[in-house]
Amino acid sequence: MRNRRRNTADSRLSGQQREKGIDGMNWEENVRRVVPYTPGEQPKKTDVIKLNTNESPYPPAPGVAEALSALDTEKFRLYPAFPEQTELAAALAARYHIGTDQIFIGVGSDDVLSMAFLTFFHSGRPVFFPDITYSFYDVWADVYGIPYERKALDADFQICPADYCQPNGGVIFPNPNAPTGVLMPLDKVEAIVAANRDVVVIVDEAYIDFGGTSALPLIEKYDNLLVVQTFSKSRSMAGMRIGYAMGQPQLIRYLNDVKYSVNSYTMNTAALELGAVAVRDEDYFKACCKKIMETRAVAEERLSALGFVFQKSFANFIFASHKTMPARNIFERLRENDIYVRWWDKERIDNYLRITIGTDGQMESLYRALGKILG
Ligand SMILES: *Cc1c(COP(=O)(O)O)cnc(C)c1O
Repeated sequence: MRNRRRNTADSRLSGQQREKGIDGMNWEENVRRVVPYTPGEQPKKTDVIKLNTNESPYPPAPGVAEALSALDTEKFRLYPAFPEQTELAAALAARYHIGTDQIFIGVGSDDVLSMAFLTFFHSGRPVFFPDITYSFYDVWADVYGIPYERKALDADFQICPADYCQPNGGVIFPNPNAPTGVLMPLDKVEAIVAANRDVVVIVDEAYIDFGGTSALPLIEKYDNLLVVQTFSKSRSMAGMRIGYAMGQPQLIRYLNDVKYSVNSYTMNTAALELGAVAVRDEDYFKACCKKIMETRAVAEERLSALGFVFQKSFANFIFASHKTMPARNIFERLRENDIYVRWWDKERIDNYLRITIGTDGQMESLYRALGKILG
């Protein structure tokens, strides 16, 4: 399972054709080969309905546009501030009632998670994560040479906590899980953290703001818990690339040591300033999350009426299977209608579509198109 060394370069030019050096080797034999993560499509056309990457359909907080136009570009001459000393760290600390020394800020939570893999998953034992989950985890494990084991979700796509209570090199799972949208109750999250005091447990809360209960309060009790969140979904700022991790100061110090050993200045000045503005507008943030949850409740009814089945979602998407038509066909037909949803050609989930919750208008267009395709 580890070190999937299939390589994209193989198909282009075989190693045999390379010049060999004095030791009979060619440079390609020593390349760090990886199969990269495949993000959802970002179509060039703009007049499409984009429900494939869980972005927010609503704009960032209104203050963000104002702050952007007021931003003094003279500041761009200088290297950015250290994230932990910025208004963004102060705003997050105030919002989550923790110290600025309990926050690590990165270029989207992908950067934060990647640094966390590099920092904490270093024991040689396998890291555990679900078989159906965010498909970046195995990519980071592969690129960093970290062994891992996938633990199967049950038939209802629930994580089985007992699977994570065997010796391991660390644990990571999203809550709610992606792409299923299934939420694990906090007592089960705590059971996993408590059973793994000898390793770091990372809870990836990319979708926690859409009705879940955050594990954040548990960081006071457990020094092995890292909670990771992002501005990309509930804060409508995927393009700004801001993510953050919260944990006890010692965990955050270790993360910073590794981060400052790779690239000191990851966060740009604009993201640091605009992020702070976004966090301070709590009312707007709450209104957006509420609206998306209301649209999701309607989507549950409408999709059921169209013959879809799904688990209850606590995220800004629904992971649904149709009773009669294969997911792939629906995916392709929707795409022909310029409606983009996500489909994976992967074991266990290849008959599911992940549909991001858009605006009410976008969702109406989706139901109309589905009505025609299925009718
Ligand atoms: C979207 C997502 C992320 C990463 O998002 P960033 O844009 O890098 O912050 C991380 N984990 C999960 C489960 C996600 O769905």
